[in-house]
Amino acid sequence: MRKKVLVLGGNFGGLTAALSVKHALDGDVDVTVVSASDRFLFNPSLIWVPFGKRTEDDITFPLAPTFEGHGIEFVHAAATAIAPLAKRVRTTADTYRYDYW
Ligand SMILES: Cc1cc2nc3c(=O)[nH]c(=O)nc-3n(C[C@H](O)[C@H](O)[C@H](O)COP(=O)(O)OP(=O)(O)OC[C@H]3O[C@@H](n4cnc5c(N)ncnc54)[C@H](O)[C@@H]3O)c2cc1C
Repeated sequence: MRKKVLVLGGNFGGLTAALSVKHALDGDVDVTVVSASDRFLFNPSLIWVPFGKRTEDDITFPLAPTFEGHGIEFVHAAATAIAPLAKRVRTTADTYRYDYW
């Protein structure tokens, strides 16, 4: 049975982790990303927003198409509890089982 990897967060850390695991294992793993935000935020450029040098659209992009294009399930929800012994994460959408997180 394919192993399940659950990644919490979809920004620099989560995006990198999810894509790396998926590709390092040649796709032979089910990867799910749960993120409270449905957009990637290039936060180093936040500094330019108050000065009108960048807009929100300039420094963000939607996560779902990016993950789905790599065969990764994306869930827009916030994790609310982690049960490490049961290997489950409760979120505002559902509860997810994992082998690795
Ligand atoms: C103005 C600014 C400039 C920066 N410049 C640099 C730089 O030049 N070089 C550099 O290396 N670093 C820089 N950094 C730091 C860098 O942005 C952070 O180190 C990096 O964003 C951390 O990535 P992360 O994915 O761990 O966390 P974050 O980027 O904070 O992402 C957290 C993710 O978790 C999600 N999340 C939060 N709570 C939950 C929850 N309960 N359930 C599910 N998902 C959740 C969020 O929606 C988000 O997707 C800068 C930061 C800022 C603010």
